[in-house]
Amino acid sequence: MSEVIEWLFECRKVFPKLDKFAIEGTYASLSYKLLGRMKGTAVSFTDIDAARLLLEGIADKKRSIKSENKFQIEVNQNLQKIEPPELRKQVVQHVLLHELMHIDYQDHVVSAKSYSRRKRKKFHTKEFEEKIHEKYNQIRKTQGLPEIPDAENVHLAVNKIASKFLK
Ligand SMILES: [Zn+2]
Repeated sequence: MSEVIEWLFECRKVFPKLDKFAIEGTYASLSYKLLGRMKGTAVSFTDIDAARLLLEGIADKKRSIKSENKFQIEVNQNLQKIEPPELRKQVVQHVLLHELMHIDYQDHVVSAKSYSRRKRKKFHTKEFEEKIHEKYNQIRKTQGLPEIPDAENVHLAVNKIASKFLK
């Protein structure tokens, strides 16, 4: 089993809501600006109010978007160079939790729905970051590592280590 799959498996324990999804995890060649990314497919289909059509003869059609239950998380392959492995695990798991949170929020569906840039939702809200931090501490606890109170410090540390390898 690859380390990403193994670490993703651990991360998924704090996201029980996502158990119904198939989620793959791999290292991949990504832009130096990206630590990781999530790929999910949002399919658009035409929905109809069936009862209304059959009883009232009115075809109330609308366009809907739904997600497929399959996702892929890619982690920047340059992060593989982080040593020692215990430190690499902390950085990669933080990236994985971030992407799992996007899946939890179904952000790929949200972006498929926002046709115009102006309407585009801001994904990385404070609440989003705080939730990742909470999950991160939960995982650390299972690993016997001390809790880190401040989310901002974790961000600084992860980015500081990652930036050494992302070029
Ligand atoms: Zn993100």
